[in-house]
Amino acid sequence: MVVTNGSCHCGQTKWTITTEDTPTHVLCHCDACKKLSGGPYTLNIVVPISDVKLTEGELKEYIYKGDSGNEVVCYYCSNCTTHPWHHQKVNGEKYVVRSGLLEGSEKFKVVAEVYAKYRYPFQQQIAAASFEIMPPSSE
Ligand SMILES: [Zn+2]
Ligand SMILES: [Zn+2]
Repeated sequence: MVVTNGSCHCGQTKWTITTEDTPTHVLCHCDACKKLSGGPYTLNIVVPISDVKLTEGELKEYIYKGDSGNEVVCYYCSNCTTHPWHHQKVNGEKYVVRSGLLEGSEKFKVVAEVYAKYRYPFQQQIAAASFEIMPPSSE
């Protein structure tokens, strides 16, 4: 098991995720990610809620309705607004954790890209596995 630390920009919130191996990145090119991050895509890893632990500070919630019509709860540091993970209710007991906020994330492998139909024209495909929206196995 690998325990990886994450922290927000101001340092008031810290967290860990536990994964079987070194975490990996899934790039998401959806419009919500563009708006929430201000960048062309976000870096994510899906982790069971029980393997995500907030170790310092408190997170606030911002809630919106996802494509499925289900709620998405975004957790963020109330001081600096860094958004360490969100809960797509449609995913069940899993969080989508922003893998780019984890220590050593520059070394993680990019394993897939989702919502690739919204990839910016200047952005090259990085992962071999690229899905127009989501892979058939998930929603
Ligand atoms: Zn912060
Ligand atoms: Zn997205």
